[in-house]
Amino acid sequence: MAQILIVEDEARIASFVAKGLRAEGHQPTVAVDGPSGLDEALSGRFDLMVLDIGLPGMDGFEVLDQLRSQGSRMPVIVLTARDSVTDTVAALDNGADDYMAKPFRFAELMARVRLRLRALAPADSPTGDDVVVGRLRLDRRTRCVSGPGGESELSAREFALAEIFFLNPGQVLTREQLLDLVWGYDFDPGSNVVDVYVGYLRKKLGADAISTVRGVGYRLDP
Ligand code: CA
Repeated sequence: MAQILIVEDEARIASFVAKGLRAEGHQPTVAVDGPSGLDEALSGRFDLMVLDIGLPGMDGFEVLDQLRSQGSRMPVIVLTARDSVTDTVAALDNGADDYMAKPFRFAELMARVRLRLRALAPADSPTGDDVVVGRLRLDRRTRCVSGPGGESELSAREFALAEIFFLNPGQVLTREQLLDLVWGYDFDPGSNVVDVYVGYLRKKLGADAISTVRGVGYRLDP
């Protein structure tokens, strides 16, 4: 059972999501505007937040930004009617772990909630904290990567992507595999989000750490 914060001003959607979460055995709490959502989120008593973007008082982007700037790493699934690529990538870049465009199917939201809660559980980590590939080291506890270029902290999504590369060094991983493993099975396969995030990782790991295998995907070079 998880404590889940729903920040959503549309009563119909909030109650529908809360009801579904309760049916799955979770304990939902609803906040109906940005400022109260942020207060609740910062209370530290929630395991995950479902966050609407269009909110009175303070929009979801601002809530997310303030939450992350105060050091919270709580998983956040963004609900948004603004399904343009620009807004979505902005949300992911701001520290959201996932997003769903409205209208969404409840089963999809639940699948993402389960995925994010599972990612939290330390018991699921099969090996130790550090994964070393060549001169690069991924610290799974602090989500930092270090190498010749120094040490960088990774966002939740960058870390999820980096972990797959580090656990499969020298192996070519296709865009579809990475999309499926990091973003979920039903993410738009035409999306360039994998390429965007590989770009972020190259900035942190070094430009030549990840090779592009033309027409196939990417490989972390040992
Ligand atoms: Ca709204």
